[in-house]
Amino acid sequence: MERIALVTGANRGIGFEIARQLGIKGIHVLVSGRNREKVEGVADLMKKDDLKVTPLVLDVTDPENIDRIFRFITDTFGRLDILVNNAAIFLSKDRNGLDTEASVIEDTFNTNVIGPFRIKQRAIPIMRRHHYGRIVNLSSRMGAINEMSGGYPGYRISKTALNAMTKILAAEVRGENILINSMCPGWVKTEMGGQNAPRTPEKGAETAVWLAMLPDNGPNGKFFRDHKEIKW
Ligand code: NAP
Repeated sequence: MERIALVTGANRGIGFEIARQLGIKGIHVLVSGRNREKVEGVADLMKKDDLKVTPLVLDVTDPENIDRIFRFITDTFGRLDILVNNAAIFLSKDRNGLDTEASVIEDTFNTNVIGPFRIKQRAIPIMRRHHYGRIVNLSSRMGAINEMSGGYPGYRISKTALNAMTKILAAEVRGENILINSMCPGWVKTEMGGQNAPRTPEKGAETAVWLAMLPDNGPNGKFFRDHKEIKW
């Protein structure tokens, strides 16, 4: 039986690498992103390595686009085994709690929180059909309450909210073999992480791929970095 994974924001950075690593493990990956040319380009690259991939245009802020994609997944595959909520933004105007405009927080929430929420609401009923699901939320230690600090309120609060959503939904599917976890990839050299970041996207993707492939008795509703549980 072929497992199907949907990765959001898979056209570059950590998302690309998660999609590639899942493909290497024999998963059929729905490589999604908001720009058709970009997703088709990366899907072609992966196909050259004999990976099974399908490019999909998915802007996580567009509810109609989400509906369309889930109709496609249901009609074409009839199942979804893995969902990686990777797509996110970190706006340069997101400076500190005193001068960041509320609209920056709103925009960041739309992509980093509301989008993944809508997608999970569509994914979980499909996962329930086969009593199997793995959901990975790409979070960040910047959203961890226990080390919360100043700066970047939109991004930080969005990741705190994403973590809360991990716990809420994990509780709601407990006992159904649907495992939902958050992870922090570390500081990774991507467009978001910048050139000074010490980690490669390959390293940043590792824990997400591990969580996407958890065995049936694996953890649910936890927060990880480098395969180890960390504090919220
Ligand atoms: P990135 O290089 O900026 O890539 C972000 C991806 O998200 C891109 O594919 C982008 O697509 C996509 N995206 C943005 N808005 C979207 C939307 N509305 N719909 C669909 N896709 C959208 O970021 P990254 O560093 O790979 O980060 C991946 C994840 O890791 C994020 O959740 C981030 O918060 C988290 N993270 C990263 C770091 C780090 O150091 N890099 C640290 C902690 C956590 P476009 O190409 O179309 O813009």
